[in-house]
Amino acid sequence: MEGAALLERLTAGATALGQRSGEIGGAGPERLIWRAATIRDVRPETPSAKTLLLGVPGWRGHLAGQHVDIRLTADDGYQAERSYSIASAPEAGQVELTIERIDDGEVSPYLTLDAMRGDMFELRGPIGGYFTWDARHRQPLLLVGGGSGLVPLMAMLRHHRAVRSRTEARLLLSARTQADILYRDELEALESDEVAVHITLTRGAAPPGWPGWSRRIDRAMLEEVAPAPEEQPSIYVCGPTAFVEEAARLLVELGHEPATIRTERFGPSGG
Ligand SMILES: Cc1cc2nc3c(=O)[nH]c(=O)nc-3n(C[C@H](O)[C@H](O)[C@H](O)COP(=O)(O)OP(=O)(O)OC[C@H]3O[C@@H](n4cnc5c(N)ncnc54)[C@H](O)[C@@H]3O)c2cc1C
Repeated sequence: MEGAALLERLTAGATALGQRSGEIGGAGPERLIWRAATIRDVRPETPSAKTLLLGVPGWRGHLAGQHVDIRLTADDGYQAERSYSIASAPEAGQVELTIERIDDGEVSPYLTLDAMRGDMFELRGPIGGYFTWDARHRQPLLLVGGGSGLVPLMAMLRHHRAVRSRTEARLLLSARTQADILYRDELEALESDEVAVHITLTRGAAPPGWPGWSRRIDRAMLEEVAPAPEEQPSIYVCGPTAFVEEAARLLVELGHEPATIRTERFGPSGG
């Protein structure tokens, strides 16, 4: 189906859902119940990404790193389901999702271009126990993100800040251009004795005065950023499949135990 026609169906579906939100629910474990989520606010992040602040009645909280499934239903019954990481810290008490638009995608153009305050869709979760970080873990933290793969890592950094954790945390973020860096001001503000933020730009020449790297992540970069393997850091890698596989491979090559490297893949293979 053509993107525009599909968008129209999904846009109509969101309205239809708003009119019948009372019907949502069902049997099964709490976290697998489909709930009605209402968009309370929309925050632009970059030219291609927006954060949706959601109201979800009955939400029981989440761990940093977990995700939700969302389901959009068109008037004719057509449904589209996608996963999105929770960007907010558990302490925030609300669900925020940051969605990066994929131009030829089915769902992300609707969520970033059409969805507005008051719109509703279905959501279930929180989902995932493996790709989560709790500030009670004392090992140094290494976060490696590509593009929107930063989202669950940001939830971890926000959790780190919310509980005033003294655990050493290092972020290596790969973004296409400076304009594509999610949460840029917040990342700058996070830098402290405990938190180090490193950014590499992968597309085109870096802007004059750019203090970070401007190449794809490689072994030398990871070696510089990562704590030594002997420190047994907790490592979280998230982003497009190819990015995640390359970063994890390099980390193992540098001597990190595979068991200490948690990965989450967002995109299709080669994406
Ligand atoms: C656990 C999990 C958490 C996720 N969290 C987030 C998040 O926080 N923010 C976010 O923006 N996305 C996230 N994603 C990705 C998201 O689920 C969708 O895949 C993405 O929004 C694209 O959906 P779409 O319907 O627009 O594109 P589709 O219609 O599914 O795909 C359109 C085209 O884009 C390609 N494509 C699909 N996904 C990607 C991708 N991620 N990168 C590059 N190409 C792609 C497809 O192969 C296809 O060619 C997450 C995925 C998983 C599995």
